[in-house]
Amino acid sequence: MSLLELKNVTKCFGGIVAVKDLSFSLNDGEIVGLIGPNGAGKTTVFNLITGVYKVTEGIILFEGKDINKCDPVSIVRGGIARTFQNIRLFNKLSVMENIKTVLFREANYNFTQVLMKTPKVVKMERHLTERSMEYLKVVGLEQYANFRADSLPYGLQRKLEIARALALKPKLLLLDEPAAGMNPEESLALVDLIRYIKEQYNLTIILIEHHMDVVMELCPRIIVINFGELLIDGSKEKVQSDERVLKAYLGEE
Ligand code: ATP
Repeated sequence: MSLLELKNVTKCFGGIVAVKDLSFSLNDGEIVGLIGPNGAGKTTVFNLITGVYKVTEGIILFEGKDINKCDPVSIVRGGIARTFQNIRLFNKLSVMENIKTVLFREANYNFTQVLMKTPKVVKMERHLTERSMEYLKVVGLEQYANFRADSLPYGLQRKLEIARALALKPKLLLLDEPAAGMNPEESLALVDLIRYIKEQYNLTIILIEHHMDVVMELCPRIIVINFGELLIDGSKEKVQSDERVLKAYLGEE
């Protein structure tokens, strides 16, 4: 059984067809690149998988279950986490608190209980601090734990988003342009990080990325969409040598 399966998925916004009759499936443990020119529909695909948008037509199955009607929170709880093209952190909270927001929810504590500081809460907080630190270490942010999230350079904010997504303990991780705004050196380090977390946390990953070197390094399989439609789904070698892909990127199609 596939971990994720899209069957003939279409998404319309009024007259705009953002995704058109798109089908693909993903096996457990795969890392797949999702590429296409600007406006091709990539982020819309992530928004459909995560329940932010509902499909106009078609079915999305996760572990064999139809998730079309699930709300975003239950989809996250079911094992799908994501990062965003435009970083969405809790800017005024510290780096560590950004991770803790996720862990509090998992521990079923709310902020009123946390403010009460009972011995049980203090013990739980210590535990969550340790766990948050583990996630920060994975992405190399432990020395920034007490910095305000928005004081971090852009590249580090992207890493914090990845750490926060990991804290949700996903099976499927959707990364939306994680290398955006990074210099070549940072992109290389990001490739290593993604490889590491994939192995360490047994993840299946879909990677949207405009930095082709990052996609080629990480993804044996690539799905290309153009005008919301599937152009090609195949090995990176096949995709690299496909003339239609080149044309789509050069705007000739
Ligand atoms: P980019 O690489 O530039 O981020 P993309 O491939 O992620 O682009 P999408 O953001 O998915 O593309 O957009 C696909 C199409 O759907 C575009 O024409 C976009 O304007 C349209 N679209 C996306 N979201 C909405 C929305 N909420 N309302 C109306 N149109 C939308």
